[in-house]
Amino acid sequence: RGDPVLRVPDAEDVAAWWPRLGPASEKYTRGVVGIAAGSATYPGAAVLSVGGALAGPTGMVRYAGSADREVLRQHPSVIATRSVTEAGRVQAWLCGSGLGTGDEARTELRSVLAAPVPAVLDADALTLLVDGSHARDLRRDAPLVVTPHDREFARLAGEEPGPDRVASACRLAAWLNAVVLLKGDRTVVATPAGQAWVNPTGSAALATGGTGDVLGGLLGSLLAAGLAPERAAVAAAYVHGLAGRRAERDGPVTAPDVAAALRPVLAGLLG
Ligand code: AMP
Ligand code: MG
Repeated sequence: RGDPVLRVPDAEDVAAWWPRLGPASEKYTRGVVGIAAGSATYPGAAVLSVGGALAGPTGMVRYAGSADREVLRQHPSVIATRSVTEAGRVQAWLCGSGLGTGDEARTELRSVLAAPVPAVLDADALTLLVDGSHARDLRRDAPLVVTPHDREFARLAGEEPGPDRVASACRLAAWLNAVVLLKGDRTVVATPAGQAWVNPTGSAALATGGTGDVLGGLLGSLLAAGLAPERAAVAAAYVHGLAGRRAERDGPVTAPDVAAALRPVLAGLLG
C-alpha cells in the first residue's frame, strides 16, 4: 500500500454531506440513534453524549443505561431504557464513555456489536475491546468507527501513535477494519482502504473533560441518519472543532458549552 491520499475537509464538504430536513421528514426516517454510555458512577458522560446526539440530524435519541434519570432530567425528549437489548430499533449505536469496564458494560458492548447497524466505539468500549474477547465480534458486517485519543489508541494498537499520525491511524483502521478517528490537536480520520483526512478546525480549549463524549454523540447521530462512516467521522470532527472555537469566545470552555455551541455552529454552516 502506498502513501494514503490525504484530504482536508472544508465547510462546503460538510454542508453538502449533512443530512437535511424536507417536507417528507418524519422522526423515524430521519434516523434513530442509540446511546449506550454513562453509568450510575459516571452519569455525566451519558448526558454529554446525548447532548451531542440531539444536535445532530436524527429525529430521535434512545438512551440505554443506568444514567437514565440524569439523562431524562437534562434531555426530556430522549427515550430511556436500562439496557441495549431493551432499547428497540435504532439505526446506529454509540457505545462508550463512562460505561465502566465491568460485566454489565461488557454485556452492553456485546449487544451493540451484535446489532446489525453502524456503531461508534469510544472510551471504555475501547478498553473492553482490547482484552481480546471481542476480537471476533469485530468481524461484523455493519460499519464500525472507533474514536480513540492517544492513550486509547496506544492500548488498541499496542503502540503509541507515531510522529506520522496519519500513517498510524491508517494502520489501525486496516487492522481493525474500522474507520479510525484519532483525536488530538489535528484530529485524523482514516479508513481501512487507506483514505485519510486531517481536520482543520478545533481548539486547544477542547482539551477538557467530556468534550469527546459530545463528539461521539454527534457522530452517532450522523451515522443513524445514514451518512457513510468516513463522512460522518469527518463531518462530526469538523463541526465539533467549530463548536470548540465558538464556545471559547465566551471564556473557559466546559464540555456542556461545546454541546450548546453545536446548534449555532450548524445554523451558520447549513444556513
Ligand atoms: P476526549 O479525550 O475523548 O475527551 O476528547 C477530547 C476532544 O478534544 C477531542 O475532540 C480532541 O480532538 C480535542 N482535543 C484535545 N486536545 C486538544 C488540543 N490540544 N487541541 C485541539 N483539540 C484537542
Ligand atoms: Mg474520551
